[in-house]
Amino acid sequence: MKEHTETFFHPAHLSHKMMRIVFSLYLAVALVITSIHFIAEYRTTKADILNELKALENTFHTPVATTLWQMSDTQLNALVKGLISMPIIEGVDIINPTGKSILELRDFSEEQTPLWLFSIEKNLQWNLNNEDIPLGTIKLYSSSDIILDRVLFGFLLITLTAVIKISLLWGLFLWAFRRFLGKPLQALTNQIDEIKLEDIEDKRIELDIQDKNELLTLQGHFNNMLSTIEEDKKAFIVAEEKRRNDLEKKVVARTQELQASNEKLLYLASTDALTGIRNRRVFFEQAQIQMDLAVRQNTPLCLLVLDIDHFKLVNDTYGHSIGDKVLCHFVRLISSKLRATDIFGRVGGEEFAILLIDTPLDDGVRLAEKIRKSIYQTKIEHGMKAVTSTISIGISAQSEDEKSINDFFVRSDSLLYQAKNKGRNRVEK
Ligand code: GH3
Ligand code: MG
Ligand code: MG
Repeated sequence: MKEHTETFFHPAHLSHKMMRIVFSLYLAVALVITSIHFIAEYRTTKADILNELKALENTFHTPVATTLWQMSDTQLNALVKGLISMPIIEGVDIINPTGKSILELRDFSEEQTPLWLFSIEKNLQWNLNNEDIPLGTIKLYSSSDIILDRVLFGFLLITLTAVIKISLLWGLFLWAFRRFLGKPLQALTNQIDEIKLEDIEDKRIELDIQDKNELLTLQGHFNNMLSTIEEDKKAFIVAEEKRRNDLEKKVVARTQELQASNEKLLYLASTDALTGIRNRRVFFEQAQIQMDLAVRQNTPLCLLVLDIDHFKLVNDTYGHSIGDKVLCHFVRLISSKLRATDIFGRVGGEEFAILLIDTPLDDGVRLAEKIRKSIYQTKIEHGMKAVTSTISIGISAQSEDEKSINDFFVRSDSLLYQAKNKGRNRVEK
């Protein structure tokens, strides 16, 4: 009820604003019409009063003339006072034929002089022996006060009824506005407030309206808008899902490409470009790991360092590209004699190293001999040319206290140089 009252008398509401505009215009128009009406009424009333004054004058003309003729001042005074006491007469002037005022009576004091006085006058004469003898002039005054007295009451009534009518109309309009527009609009606003974008499905505005009016049209348009939003939302979700799937596919593809690139990069970074076996850096890294493992597991390790004999001569004799092919051939030959677990790498130009896992020195020496022999016995055919070469090998076993691959390598390398010094094509342990 409180809310209802507040809403009903809320000056910011549309209904109040409309009423203010409508009734301001209505009042302005009514004021103009009433003013015209008032002026017309004033004039008519004034004409009526003048007629009444004339009628009175006609009535009192003879008695006044008689008293004037007989020069009875007391009677004249009494007569004029009688005239003054009449409601429409505000003043009486009696003027003699020379224009001099004989009697001048007013029904009001000096301070209460009416806004406007108007009068009629008539010449007084006495007929003696069929001759009119002028006696003077009588002037009867009336005033705006008399007219207003008559007119104002009517207009007060008009104003009172107008105020009652306007108040009634105002109340009725507010009630009707609220009943047929305010309430449905409030219901519309409340229902709109309840609609959430994430829960728009099947949510529609339903106003309690039976008439096919603008509100129903508004409801229809709003519900159409909700349907469009719902369809757009569904389409957006589908598009978003597709976009996400496409993105995921792209990410998977990119990840695979990246993995392949990484693997390739890793391969390139760890592999010798010419022969395809481990480069020096990776050989030393992996060999160090195997040494650590061997220490922990107490397994034997052998390290072979191999260098092709007089390889410079091969290059000089057959050319650098044949030298490259010889290198590759030897790498294939050596690889074929190794186990998958053995670590084989190119540690210099024509210098290689092999770490034999879980291998005692004797087995290592046997393998080294096998490699040396197979290289010695190999002829590499290249067109009309047959290239032969030998290899020198230094081999040592991991000593108990040895933990660094560098120390281990230095030992095998120095044995390799011993092999070189002792005439090449041999294994030194
Ligand atoms: P030694 O028996 O003392 O080892 O003699 P060598 O000639 O093999 O030794 P040296 O160190 O004097 O020469 C090594 C040669 O190996 C020099 C170089 O031209 C050659 N060489 C190194 N790397 C490559 C390569 O990748 N391709 C080719 N074709 N030759 C290479
Ligand atoms: Mg050499
Ligand atoms: Mg060398």
